[in-house]
Amino acid sequence: MSKQLITFDFDWSLSEQDTDRWVFEVLDPKKRRQMKSLKSTVQWTDLVAMKMKELHADGITREQVEESLRQMPFHPAMKRGLINLKERNKDIDLVILSNSNEVYIRTILEHHKITHLFDSIITNRASWTEDGCLDLKRRVDPNGEQHKCVVGCSPNMCKGEELERYVESKGGWSNYKKVFYVGDGGNDYCPLLHLRQQDTALARYPRPLINRIEKEGNLKCSIVKWVGAWEIEEIVDQL
Ligand SMILES: [Mg+2]
Ligand SMILES: [Zn+2]
Repeated sequence: MSKQLITFDFDWSLSEQDTDRWVFEVLDPKKRRQMKSLKSTVQWTDLVAMKMKELHADGITREQVEESLRQMPFHPAMKRGLINLKERNKDIDLVILSNSNEVYIRTILEHHKITHLFDSIITNRASWTEDGCLDLKRRVDPNGEQHKCVVGCSPNMCKGEELERYVESKGGWSNYKKVFYVGDGGNDYCPLLHLRQQDTALARYPRPLINRIEKEGNLKCSIVKWVGAWEIEEIVDQL
């Protein structure tokens, strides 16, 4: 049991922005504003899917969307830390567990030439249609069986169930001597409930995850607060 696992949320954790919102801030801020009021009534993944269809109808191209993603801030220290880590230590699995989508995440990782570092990318399903429209779908099909989360994950995906499924596919928790979880959002609280005493939650400050941890507690793992990606680099440099 020498293996370790680091699970990364993507928006505001592995990266320095929120992919869904960023694309609209760059390409159509009016839609970004509309989404702010619609998000209380439309499930977020469905809302992004709907607004991306509108963006396409307005004439915004696949290339423009991809370019906006390539411009999205990504901290050089995060990149450097993870590249060095994987070169030095082959016994670490890196996984992305995100409410963004396959297209956005892969576009950004490929731009930074770091796709190969990750063992798995667990996120919403997405692809480009032939005429360049993003076809985005919830990870959990709304017409199929729904997840059973009771701590507040959105219907599109329960990060706790997904983490559990991933760890199981790797031979179970006993296969990992230590698991880290890097997150910032309220929906990163659920997977932390699955971590053990020897595991560590790396919770970004000041973001909603910290508030949930302080309010709801109930975690077995240790908690380390961080603000800048350079602090994550400091931690992975020790592994
Ligand atoms: Mg996040
Ligand atoms: Zn959940």
